[in-house]
Amino acid sequence: MNKYKTIKRRKSDRIYVGNVPIGNNAPISVQSMTNTKTTDIENTINQINQLKKVGVDIVRVSVPTEEAAEAFKIIKKKTNIPLIADIHFDYRLAIKSIKYGADCLRINPGNIGKKRKINEVVSCAKYNNIPIRIGVNSGSLESDILHKYKSPVPKALVESAIRHIEYLDSLNFNQFKVSVKASDVFSAVKANKILSKKITQPIHIGITESGSLRNGTVKSSIGIYSLLSSGIGDTLRISLAADPIEEVKVGYDILKVLGIRFRGINFIACPTCSRQEFDVIQVVEELEKRLEDIDTFMNVSIIGCVVNGIGEAKMSTLGVTGGYKTSGLYKDGIRQKNKISNKNIVEELEMYIRKKSSEIKKIKIINKNNI
Ligand code: SF4
Repeated sequence: MNKYKTIKRRKSDRIYVGNVPIGNNAPISVQSMTNTKTTDIENTINQINQLKKVGVDIVRVSVPTEEAAEAFKIIKKKTNIPLIADIHFDYRLAIKSIKYGADCLRINPGNIGKKRKINEVVSCAKYNNIPIRIGVNSGSLESDILHKYKSPVPKALVESAIRHIEYLDSLNFNQFKVSVKASDVFSAVKANKILSKKITQPIHIGITESGSLRNGTVKSSIGIYSLLSSGIGDTLRISLAADPIEEVKVGYDILKVLGIRFRGINFIACPTCSRQEFDVIQVVEELEKRLEDIDTFMNVSIIGCVVNGIGEAKMSTLGVTGGYKTSGLYKDGIRQKNKISNKNIVEELEMYIRKKSSEIKKIKIINKNNI
């Protein structure tokens, strides 16, 4: 536990997306969205499985057409990850998706049209006991709100959200979460801060259309840190113009750094210099790839020489400190007799990390059984 960690989460109501709890102190869930054609059932299922491998909690799937709804029905049967059907405008697709097993709908009630249609969707969601996500986005604000505020300023985003919320309130439906997203970090943060004071429902956070892997990761990290450190955020999605798998990895990395949720390996690696005794960059990159499937949390330090290596290794679950031809190995901060050959450093470290992961898992099971 980091003694400098001061994050106190905002109190919110609890909803469930499938078996995933959201709000009221539930672990902050990590979401992503498929970017395959939903009608391409095989590739969509493959992508959901890939996302599952890196720890996704909930996956959103677009349902833009009748054919996509039929595909959604099949996809839903072939996965146990909770699925959110993403619907815009067409209430019939919303109803179909619920009937086909959606665990949540992402739909903005105000965009559906006549009150009768909204009523039908909400009744169906109520009957099937599934929640709704209201998702307001700076790129798709209602024209009258945009006209009033001239641009998608934070107050405009919140006004739009409240308008959708009022539709649900008028139908006595409170099983929903809300997102107000903007591609501008400051607007997104401000909008969420305003919203968080007006509702008790869970808030889904993210910086929308944040850009490429590098740029989007930077923007998302800053925005999400600002929100989480203010206690705002019950579930998140990192929106990247990149493989959705990267969204999940970045999401977990942010939560890990903030000490909120731990999954997988936290690599500590030096920036390298001429003192390095093995190729640190290549070793870390290779291990990150090979160990994507490890969900046990542990700190692993990979440091090119003794300058910082010993200090970091002493604070890590596993640590390696570069030496001439062979490198020093540390386990739980204690120097081990056996050294690692620099030639086989990737293979050997992979083996040690996997072994340590199994040990940690076994201890957790024993502790659980002893409670
Ligand atoms: Fe260079 Fe050693 Fe520092 Fe790494 S730990 S950057 S190899 S001095």
